[in-house]
Amino acid sequence: MNLILLGYPGSGKGTLAKDLSKELDMVHVSTGDILRDEMAKKTQLGQEASSYMASGRLVPDRLVMDMLKTRLGSETRGLLFDGFPRTVEQAEMLDGWFTSRGQGLDAVVFLNVAEDVVIARLGSRRTCTGCGKIYNVISAPPAKEDVCDACGKPLMTRPDDTQAVIQKRVQVYKDQTEPLLAYYRASGSFLQADGGKAPDAVTKDVMALLRAQP
Ligand code: ADP
Ligand code: ZN
Repeated sequence: MNLILLGYPGSGKGTLAKDLSKELDMVHVSTGDILRDEMAKKTQLGQEASSYMASGRLVPDRLVMDMLKTRLGSETRGLLFDGFPRTVEQAEMLDGWFTSRGQGLDAVVFLNVAEDVVIARLGSRRTCTGCGKIYNVISAPPAKEDVCDACGKPLMTRPDDTQAVIQKRVQVYKDQTEPLLAYYRASGSFLQADGGKAPDAVTKDVMALLRAQP
């Protein structure tokens, strides 16, 4: 099975993807996480991507696509895309890639959350520097301030989770990513969940939607 999660930055795609990939034994493909990993390793791709990411703009389609083809070329498990595709061009390239592998997309899940909610969430998001677990200082704080419950490493505020960059990312989403809703609504199995609920409830709802699939 191959799935795509769509929604605003801060809509909960990363948290849901971590849960779903465990439940369904799929590969969690977060282009944001992969790009941050390339940046941390100071690869050429990471260096090219860093100024785009720091300012909240999208990394050019060609770089993202080449990166995914390299990483996923020999992967045989189902793919769970989180943060990809983000432009219609990326969606078309993904269609072409699936076709060349004799595969297809099984469903697209849109996490519906209001804009003011995602802006508030991104401002209070903290991320573990060790395992990547996502917290929220208001709605889902760790037991001990700024320390990960799961691995004990310190939490950080992502450099693009600052007010100016958050505003930019939301605008970029509306301009470049939102058109994908129409693209996927027209093309097949488009599912929608209320991303305003608590993380466990969202996972439960999405699992039920997927089970109800023909
Ligand atoms: P969020 O969804 O919360 O904005 P991500 O970790 O998915 O966070 O993405 C962080 C940044 O990485 C984006 O703002 C963008 O610069 C870059 N990025 C991630 N995925 C893509 C993609 N598919 N295409 C272009 N840029 C991307
Ligand atoms: Zn951790």
